[in-house]
Amino acid sequence: MAALNRLMRARGFSFYSTASCRSFSSAVTSEPDLRFPSSLGHKTLPVRRDPSNRNVQWVFLGCPGVGKGTYASRLSKLLGIPHIATGDLVREELTCSGLFSQQLSEIVNQGKLVSDEIIINLLSKRLKKGEINGESGFILDGFPRTIRQAEILEGVTEIDLVINLKLREDILVEKCLGRRICSQCGGNFNIANINVKGENGNRGIYMAPLLPPAGCESKLITRADDTEEVVKERLRIYNNMSQPVEDFYRSRGKLMEFDLPGGIPESWPKLLQALNLDQEDKQSVAA
Ligand SMILES: [Zn+2]
Repeated sequence: MAALNRLMRARGFSFYSTASCRSFSSAVTSEPDLRFPSSLGHKTLPVRRDPSNRNVQWVFLGCPGVGKGTYASRLSKLLGIPHIATGDLVREELTCSGLFSQQLSEIVNQGKLVSDEIIINLLSKRLKKGEINGESGFILDGFPRTIRQAEILEGVTEIDLVINLKLREDILVEKCLGRRICSQCGGNFNIANINVKGENGNRGIYMAPLLPPAGCESKLITRADDTEEVVKERLRIYNNMSQPVEDFYRSRGKLMEFDLPGGIPESWPKLLQALNLDQEDKQSVAA
């Protein structure tokens, strides 16, 4: 990432924070916890490597609520490469002490959008740390978000593939509206039972609900911003912002569109197939 650092310095960004951070394990995630079956252990697939002998460098795009974090996280475990979510980087930085963290905290608390510079700063720090620790390859989740970020990224490292996860908007909205959180244990659930029949050449979509255990049932709450109006507005903003980024990668022949055929049990094997990942290992992880 030396090139990235040079570029950032040239652009006048500073990345080295002298602040100390608390444990990263406190990073929150908005996705339900969907871990691999423990039988998979640390098994990893043979990953296609390029001539420079590195692992894949992929980007995941997809609107809020599509499950992008879940699929990116599963793939990173399967391939043995880091899943770098910019949302997590921001949350981790907020646990640090120092001037930069203070400024970031003000931006976030005011509900403002975190700027390209800050995101690039955090990402470069994360990649640098990975390089020191001998990491190779990555899956980026939530980055690049703007065409400018895409251009900067393109200038410093090779992105092999951009996977654009897609789901019909009406289903996406229904899924977002089905989200519930247990007010006691903080568990994430989804009560939406999506079963759309295929018609007019469109295939049906089935997504099972993620129901809470009996102990949580009476304690479920809905996030205040999971209303139809807010969810639709979030999607509209995302689509406006994401379109140029998709076009950027499409024109470079790097965009892979992937229409989710359903929930995780339906989608995961299909995604592996689309990515040409090993067939036999697919059985063991498509739980
Ligand atoms: Zn609970």
